[in-house]
Amino acid sequence: MRMRKLAALAVAILCVCCAPRSARGEPCLDAELIVRGGHIVTMDLGGAVVSALAIRDGRILARGTDAEIAGCASARTKIVELHGQTVLPGLIDVHTHTMEWAEGILRDQLDVTYPKVRSIADIVAMVRERAGKTPKGQWISGAGWDDAKFAEHRYINRHDLDAVSADNPVYLDHVSGHLIAVNSAALKLAGITRDTPDPTGGVIEKDAAGEPTGVLKDTAMDLTGKLLPPDPPDIHMRAAKLISERALALGLTTIHDIFISSDEIRGYQDAEARGWLKLRVQMSPRIGSIEDAEQLAKMGIHTGYGDDRLKFGAAKMFADGGMGARTIAIYPPPVAGEPQNFGVLRWKPEDMHKAHLIAASAGWQLETHAIGDRAIDEVLDSYAAVMKELNLTDARFRIVHAGISTPAIQKRLAELHVLVDGNPPFVYWIGSWFKKYGPERVRWSYPAKSYIENGVIEAAGSDVPVTPISPWWGIWAAVARKDLATGEVLAPEERLTISEALRLYTYNGAYAGFEEKTKGTLEPGKLADFIIVDRDVLSAPTDELKDVQVVKTFVGGEMVFERSAALR
Ligand SMILES: [Zn+2]
Repeated sequence: MRMRKLAALAVAILCVCCAPRSARGEPCLDAELIVRGGHIVTMDLGGAVVSALAIRDGRILARGTDAEIAGCASARTKIVELHGQTVLPGLIDVHTHTMEWAEGILRDQLDVTYPKVRSIADIVAMVRERAGKTPKGQWISGAGWDDAKFAEHRYINRHDLDAVSADNPVYLDHVSGHLIAVNSAALKLAGITRDTPDPTGGVIEKDAAGEPTGVLKDTAMDLTGKLLPPDPPDIHMRAAKLISERALALGLTTIHDIFISSDEIRGYQDAEARGWLKLRVQMSPRIGSIEDAEQLAKMGIHTGYGDDRLKFGAAKMFADGGMGARTIAIYPPPVAGEPQNFGVLRWKPEDMHKAHLIAASAGWQLETHAIGDRAIDEVLDSYAAVMKELNLTDARFRIVHAGISTPAIQKRLAELHVLVDGNPPFVYWIGSWFKKYGPERVRWSYPAKSYIENGVIEAAGSDVPVTPISPWWGIWAAVARKDLATGEVLAPEERLTISEALRLYTYNGAYAGFEEKTKGTLEPGKLADFIIVDRDVLSAPTDELKDVQVVKTFVGGEMVFERSAALR
């Protein structure tokens, strides 16, 4: 009897001694959850692959072989058997407009995205049908059209729409978010005529006779946008719930929602208070003017305020327009077929600098949308000055998109340690837009491999609703770089390996959000955010990457999504 007790004690001591240690050097004991028997790709810098993880208090306690982790168990430990399945860190999307996307779904807007819509005629038919059941005078809105995917290869305009919507104003967002098409009823309500001048940073498109076509670009969109009916007050909160559910099912455990309004910030907060938000969110408030920057600074909060679930990220500004609207600010040569078009700059350089300085002085990380090389230079000039004036050593300012990223631009990015919020899925979904800017610019569009070689840190974003929310499109596109329209591989030298592509969505995403100490890899001490996927992603054939299915998603050690057997 005594011998047996002694032996048990010896085993217990042995287990404690040989069990892996936690990040703080404590023995690994009393885990809440152990996942084991898997192919756990930790994405750490050493490329470690382990078979088991122990989790307690929402964090990873230890990782190792099944035998090593066995010592972490207690009577309460839940075990998840992986049966050889692949586990990855939860994925991070640093550039989404998920609120806007989810609100569109909840508003029952017309979904005019590809491949549902392949021509202007398709949209006209949808508007006709909707007008038939919409009371006179009420707005009809829709979002997601892309002229590059239309059979007609041109923007939809008021003439197309007027024939089927004489009694209703119509507002249709382009997929880029940088232009809209409205009908004559909407132009009339907004008071836009042939005599209305372009607002700063925007374009009212006019035909050869000088009449507005119904296409409004960038800041000109507000002229009709402000007339849209108000949303029900709870829409943002419900949108946050929808975002959380959809994102977790795709393997995203953190998203950054960019350029959001105060109502949307409130919506996230209200959803979190109700326990609806299982996804982790960084909210990026908008700065559209110097007054916005001042107001943000006055609130006394800054980047990082919040908790692991919901916090403030960077402050977001726009420097130029979009490729789809052909309003990105470029150096010569101009856009193909538009000799005068060098794009739009939304800010005078001195005003941009002022807004940057006000926000950064108040403790905000900055992220600024800039696609054209001329816009990127304007932002980098301002960033460099702000970093110098405030003596910032780890500012991690970000350029959003950095679409035309020439070797000269990349050199500046590396020297200033400015990060890029890149968009791997753009090459597939909207690669045809790059071509309007000539072959030299196609070569330097979204150059992911060059960034790695030149020491520029890139994190990844879908820019949903510009491209679908699923991160697997981006992971695949980063590896394949195929253009949807032609199947052509765009700048093949910029293709990434699968593990490089995953890094953009894991560690680099965490780094961009100042979260690399808590997220982005599966290591002891970090948050237990991980996903189980249906295939070995690292050895999967390239074309399968876009089809990866997430089987289970864990956030802070809690299972927040499980694919039903019927869906597998
Ligand atoms: Zn965006």
